[in-house]
Amino acid sequence: MTTPFAELLTWTTRGTNLAYLLAAVLFILALAGLSKQETAQRGNTFGIAGMAIALVATIIKALVQSHTEPEHYRSALTTAILIALAMAIGAGIGIPRARGVEMTGMPELIALLHSFVGLAAVLIGFNSWLHPQGLTADMESFHLGEVFLGVFIGAVTFTGSIIAYLKLSGKIKGAPLTLPGRNLLNLGILLASLAFMVIFILSGGHGVWAWVSIIAMTVLALLLGLHLVAAIGGGDMPVVVSMLNSYSGWAAAAAGFMLSNPLLIITGALVGSSGAYLSFIMCRAMNRSFISVILGGFGSDGGAVADDRDYGSHTETSVAETAELLREAKNVMITPGYGMAVAQAQYPVAELTRKLRERGVNVTFGIHPVAGRLPGHMNVLLAEAKVPYDIVTEMDEVNDDFDTVDVVLVIGANDTVNPIAYEPGSPIAGMPVLKVWEAEHVIVFKRSMGAGYAGVQNPLFFNDNTDMLLGDAKDSVNGIIADL
Ligand code: NDP
Repeated sequence: MTTPFAELLTWTTRGTNLAYLLAAVLFILALAGLSKQETAQRGNTFGIAGMAIALVATIIKALVQSHTEPEHYRSALTTAILIALAMAIGAGIGIPRARGVEMTGMPELIALLHSFVGLAAVLIGFNSWLHPQGLTADMESFHLGEVFLGVFIGAVTFTGSIIAYLKLSGKIKGAPLTLPGRNLLNLGILLASLAFMVIFILSGGHGVWAWVSIIAMTVLALLLGLHLVAAIGGGDMPVVVSMLNSYSGWAAAAAGFMLSNPLLIITGALVGSSGAYLSFIMCRAMNRSFISVILGGFGSDGGAVADDRDYGSHTETSVAETAELLREAKNVMITPGYGMAVAQAQYPVAELTRKLRERGVNVTFGIHPVAGRLPGHMNVLLAEAKVPYDIVTEMDEVNDDFDTVDVVLVIGANDTVNPIAYEPGSPIAGMPVLKVWEAEHVIVFKRSMGAGYAGVQNPLFFNDNTDMLLGDAKDSVNGIIADL
């Protein structure tokens, strides 16, 4: 005979599954929307709606479950208090952090958030091992396997993301960590973890061997995450950001298996696979082997070209001279980089573009796929400043046309326009760059003669057809607008 509570639970489970299905569809629509600038806002709204539905459904289910099965868990009131407490702590940390973050600080915030997903997967793994729920005997080995894998992926994601956060926020600087035999070291950790997995499953999850194997694997996985990301050089960080995004998705999917939560499995798999695809695209853009980068700098010799070469002297220009040059130009290309984000110069850049176009000048933007500190960073800034989408073009579309350009304005870009990428052994060797030097005039907007993110000097600054407009990019562009 079914009790009213059992019936309530059945209906709640059905309702939750339906809500999960709806949320999953909304997440897919969100991803589809986010793939184009024009539809990105709509995509975001779908994502928010999906997450809200998923959250409400999960909370209701947890409350009903603890009310109907108090012997398994705890009272509904305790559950409600715990959920409210967890949400208050999360919101207390997350809201001020997200409100205060500058666009330039987004990559490190994302890396930090990925580390939480990794840590959550580790904690869920241990909890699910120590307090398994609703397991039948034939599911036990499978459950131990998913616990082990969940903890492994979570631990790698956790330390990998922390190192990425430290690198992206500039708290760790310098050359990548290239230990001798590092690939063998990584392989050794993988094989040892596999052996510990066999021991863990054979132990049935009980006794001293279960503890030894899971703790040893956790420590090894934490070290592996740290080592994989520490070995990656500055120029390859974009791939790391998207790769850790993917890892965090797989960690969430693993947590979904452990919690028997289908939505977490679907969402994790969506994030994991889209992150993996993004990493693949970034690798292609950077001319890197996907396998090399996910194995932590595999194949790169970690060498760097000595940076003390004498490239001769550079020439400086002024706002007035640049304005004069632009008055005469017919074809202008703007190649923005990280410095435009730092200076928040996108608004004056949009205004300058409008003014030049009104004068009949053909203005195009050439966007390098890893310009800035986030995939799509420049596109977001330019869209925010309402630069028309149709004049914002990708590197591949414009890279053969620079010889037809009268003036290139390099606004806060450095590595992405650095011809040293053609030099074997340089930290950015092999990375395709915008061939701005083929234009008639190049004006570089930056504050000093300092190096870019990869820490390597840029010979472009010393070319005969390059003039440096030193100063804050926003001030310089505003000055030019006033002069025009
Ligand atoms: P870089 O980071 O190489 O260079 C930015 C330049 O901007 C600096 O040389 C700096 O020079 C200048 N700058 C800083 N502030 C200002 C300011 N207020 N006004 C004017 N100039 C300023 O930029 P790129 O975009 O060319 O290259 C991106 C780099 O970041 C690549 O190496 C890429 O691999 C890496 N990266 C990219 C990620 C992504 O996903 N897009 C993620 C992580 C790393 P100065 O100090 O002299 O002003």
